[in-house]
Amino acid sequence: MSGAAFAQRVPMQKRLFIKTYGCQMNVYDSARMADLMAPLGYAPVASADGADLVILNTCHIREKAAEKVFSELGSIRRLKGARERQGGRMVVAVAGCVAQAEGDEIQRRAPFVDIVFGPQAYHRLPEMVARALDSAGEGILDTSFPAEPKFDYLPESAATPGVSAFLTVQEGCDKFCTFCVVPYTRGAEYSRPAGQIIAEAGRLVAAGTREITLLGQNVNAYHGAAADGGEWGLGELIRSLARLPGLDRIRYTTSHPRDVDDGLIAAHRDVPQLMPFLHLPVQSGSDRVLAAMNRRHTAGQYKRTVERLRAARPDLALSSDFIVGYPGESEDDFRATLDLVAEIGFAQAFSFKYSLRPGTPAATAADQVPEAVKAERLAELQVLLQQQQRAFNESCVGQVLPVLFEKPGRHSGQLVGRSPYLQSVHAPAAGDRVGEIVPVLIRAAEPNSLAGILLEKEGVHAA
Ligand code: SF4
Repeated sequence: MSGAAFAQRVPMQKRLFIKTYGCQMNVYDSARMADLMAPLGYAPVASADGADLVILNTCHIREKAAEKVFSELGSIRRLKGARERQGGRMVVAVAGCVAQAEGDEIQRRAPFVDIVFGPQAYHRLPEMVARALDSAGEGILDTSFPAEPKFDYLPESAATPGVSAFLTVQEGCDKFCTFCVVPYTRGAEYSRPAGQIIAEAGRLVAAGTREITLLGQNVNAYHGAAADGGEWGLGELIRSLARLPGLDRIRYTTSHPRDVDDGLIAAHRDVPQLMPFLHLPVQSGSDRVLAAMNRRHTAGQYKRTVERLRAARPDLALSSDFIVGYPGESEDDFRATLDLVAEIGFAQAFSFKYSLRPGTPAATAADQVPEAVKAERLAELQVLLQQQQRAFNESCVGQVLPVLFEKPGRHSGQLVGRSPYLQSVHAPAAGDRVGEIVPVLIRAAEPNSLAGILLEKEGVHAA
């Protein structure tokens, strides 16, 4: 059934509640689902209570992700029952990576769920909702990896984007790191054509966006079709986006060290709009563990990549992901991780204990590290990472940083925005300055943010 035909049958102003778990990619996907349902009269609401359509857009990256979803579904089942007792109808859908990985289990344990669909099937959401409304409660399961790229079927967004927006350019992954479910839940790598991305970026900028973060599970594996019939890497895509008037800042995440190529390094050197902050996960500093993780790079190769990036952009600040207690990780392996952190110096980092993700090769490894050892190692690593983050933030005190203000801060008369290095910066400023990039003199550093004053407001001038 076409969306138009369906729209004629649907009364306007239906309530759509989407709960999003996990990564920025899921945030982007949820916004696209809302775009798909908007022409059919569905408007977003803040609570599942009384909603006509409830979507849980799930993430499978953490242990017990499925259990969290089942627990949330327990509450949704009660709300659905209450709505039906009042003569209404609530369609419940579970989307995202848990749906992809555990669709059959969801249908078995939560038969009141009307629709279960994976990340590659959400462009068919309007049809699935129509089928659910027409059916007598038989569940719909769509966890296929369709041949047609879903991006060709997504409508242009009518919603007003933020000052800073996400734009998915690549999806899926062929790397098969042994701890990760993404290749199984998102499928093989797919890069959107460059023209489609540039057009979407143009619409965002026309609607007021000044900063775009390019998203992909392995974003720098991007290899999209270009208008000239060739293929562009991420560096070429960034150069082309930088030519859009009004697009002042470009970021990308998440990248893989193996896919940092010459073109991308050159873009860091040549494109001022490309912000000097890079999230480049390394996971471990031990070659033995990196090999066991199937990361396809060594600690030495990671360090050389960082050296080349820093040679191209000397003020580049780095962030990374770490997993401690991967199966078989010895004390020496862990020390190698601490050594790598000490040598490189990170401005930010995310660190976790290895947690078993069902369906991944590492989940069945015999030599699992005891929880207490993992906890001890994580605490030690985090002390070092936090020291580095604090030192980086403190090094900004006294500097003038251009801050893109995004929204009001916690206190009245205050705005919060981002520095080029992705730090949150608070400063007293009038509300109408949201969307402006303003020079801010940094006066104080907190562990997770900076505070400053607008230069022109205070009449302060940079030395
Ligand atoms: S590169 Fe990233 S997304 Fe791909 S398998 Fe490894 S951790 Fe998962």
